[in-house]
Amino acid sequence: MNSITQETRLTVVYILVAFTFSVLMRMIWIYQFNDYEMFKYAGEFMINTNDGYFWAEGARDLLSGSGTNPMGENFYDKFHQFNDLSPVSTATAHLTALLAWMLPFSFESIILYMPVYLSSLVVIPIILIAKSIDNLEMGLIAALLASIAWSYYNRTMIGYYDTDMLNIVLPMFLLWSITWAIKTNQDKYLIITALDILVYRWWYPQSYALEFSFFGLILVYALVFDRKNMYNYKLLAIMMFAMLNIDGFIRFPLVLAVFFMFKQEHYQKYVYHLFAISVALFFISGGFNPIWGKLTAYIFDSSIQAGDEGLGLHFFTVMQTIREAGKIPFETFANRISGHTVSFIVSCFGYVYLVYKHKIMIFALPLVGLGFLASVGGLRFTIYAVPVLALGIAFLITELSSKMPTNKLKYLSIIAFTLMVLLPNYKHIEAYRIPTVMNASEVAILDKLKEVAQRDDYVISWWDYGYPIRYYADVKTLGDGGKHSGSVNFGLSFVLTASPELAAKMARLDVEFTERSFIIRKENMDKNESEQTKVFSNIEEMTKAYDFDDTNDFLYSLQTDVKLPKKTRDIYFYLPHQMLNIYPTVKIFSNLDLMNGEQEKAPFFFVSRNFKETQEKIILNSAVFMDKKDLTLSIKDKKVAIKRFVKTGYTKDMRFSKNIKYINESADLSIIYMSAYNTFLVLDEDTYNSMYIQLSVLEEYDKSLFEQVVVNPHAKIYKLKL
Ligand code: MN
Repeated sequence: MNSITQETRLTVVYILVAFTFSVLMRMIWIYQFNDYEMFKYAGEFMINTNDGYFWAEGARDLLSGSGTNPMGENFYDKFHQFNDLSPVSTATAHLTALLAWMLPFSFESIILYMPVYLSSLVVIPIILIAKSIDNLEMGLIAALLASIAWSYYNRTMIGYYDTDMLNIVLPMFLLWSITWAIKTNQDKYLIITALDILVYRWWYPQSYALEFSFFGLILVYALVFDRKNMYNYKLLAIMMFAMLNIDGFIRFPLVLAVFFMFKQEHYQKYVYHLFAISVALFFISGGFNPIWGKLTAYIFDSSIQAGDEGLGLHFFTVMQTIREAGKIPFETFANRISGHTVSFIVSCFGYVYLVYKHKIMIFALPLVGLGFLASVGGLRFTIYAVPVLALGIAFLITELSSKMPTNKLKYLSIIAFTLMVLLPNYKHIEAYRIPTVMNASEVAILDKLKEVAQRDDYVISWWDYGYPIRYYADVKTLGDGGKHSGSVNFGLSFVLTASPELAAKMARLDVEFTERSFIIRKENMDKNESEQTKVFSNIEEMTKAYDFDDTNDFLYSLQTDVKLPKKTRDIYFYLPHQMLNIYPTVKIFSNLDLMNGEQEKAPFFFVSRNFKETQEKIILNSAVFMDKKDLTLSIKDKKVAIKRFVKTGYTKDMRFSKNIKYINESADLSIIYMSAYNTFLVLDEDTYNSMYIQLSVLEEYDKSLFEQVVVNPHAKIYKLKL
């Protein structure tokens, strides 16, 4: 009895030690940026992941409870605006709102620190799993390593407010309950496993792939090694009921009912029937369908996709501009999982050895497998392998140390080896000084916009800024981190990179057609399938509405005096200086012929921030320089004429000023020197005349189309007057 309490006490102590360690390591970032006011908003640090603003918007709306909504019918619409895309029914928003409501901290602090404390919970299942094979030291070492390992840290650091903060914690708890279930065959682990699945699915709806892998592994184990054991089929059946593709509010009582049946002697003869029923229901409910679909969509893609009906427009997809979906080199892959190539390889051997010694650990295979999928599926998957491989190397460390002749040597070697595997990860944390998504000036602008704009108004910007705009200004956006398909981006790209006149018209069209599509979709919900109105992309709907069957003809017609749709709300443009860095990417999405998918010639767009000035020229980079005397440009030793040279800057009282010098009327390229940013731009005439360059870089606009609302050197907001 005494030894049990002793072990329990040690378990608790180890958990507390590892948890504290994990939290403190995540405070290093705070310590590094403590005086950096540009990272703060409302007295607190801002978050550093774009997607976080999505959940934050939902939580904010849940807490506010005072939305305006003309068409609201259900409970949630009370809190936000019709079709503002606020995620008020997601688990992350609910948990955040609950914590913010319960705890005496500001909302900004809650979302900043949630990843710190929630992700650190991963140490609990790790140590409990180690306890199941009577090796608590292994648990402590693995918990220390896993909690701060490279990719796990990156995706759960302070301010990385995203579902990742529980995405490893929950499957690790699942692994823990599965191992204990198989090992002890105790009834309580049936219900714990099922509840784990319910919570995991609630938190992260894409969890089915991993749940299904666990299920498959247990099924193989049951059929091959332990066929006669009824308990295995109970476990499989209750897991399957928990995994059905139906609402959680139905699955929860269902799982409870199944559990109470399993507990009763009378129902023992029906276990196989229940198992069969659960599998049948799983297929009927469509539980299997998404498993392949999602995965293949991520791994295989083509850059340009044709619609299958209607005009068959071709859009540029966002996939190839997202780096994380690309293939990654082995060293990066190893670093991300274990912090170092050597410790990664040792960890892999350690895991194999661990499975050899403790067969039960084979059930961790789905997590390792998903982690290794990173080598084809992209970096985002590596975190799944982190805790299991940490257990692998921790096992080797404890095995090696146990061979030491004295106890003192044993503990010294444990400490030495542990520090060795922790060190590269600590160094990574030290060096990983990533900035917040927004800086204080960019947010200050949005804060002011919030006072001006109505909550049903639209703000147009590139999709990267969609979530932060909605969080800080409480408005609607056309694109965001979850809505950036080729057809959505086409509209945004067109507005930002076409001429201001066309941009103004397209902005009104895109907003009104977006709202129109929401209304049609809502009406469709009350109709049966044959009566539903199919909604195509906005640009396709516009083309048809203006009686064209060629999108190019429609876009061309925008240059004439077209009748625009009725204005239902105001539209603003948010133009951050930062967007200059991604201008060519923004342009790609509208720089193609939608009818045949052919890319147009890329714009000439050149930025230099590291220029050097000599007596007679300005060296923009090794191949491009500007002659100061005759104001010509040399690109790879070829002289190129310049249309105009523009210098922008701020006067002493912070007023924007610009000076335009015309040089050669027939030339195509212009040079802009943005003195306040120490930046040179070389642009072709189309780019120079684009809405973004004109309004953001030059503050040049037609007063009948646009109105300046609020500007500072970091971002500018205009209002559409059409
Ligand atoms: Mn809203």
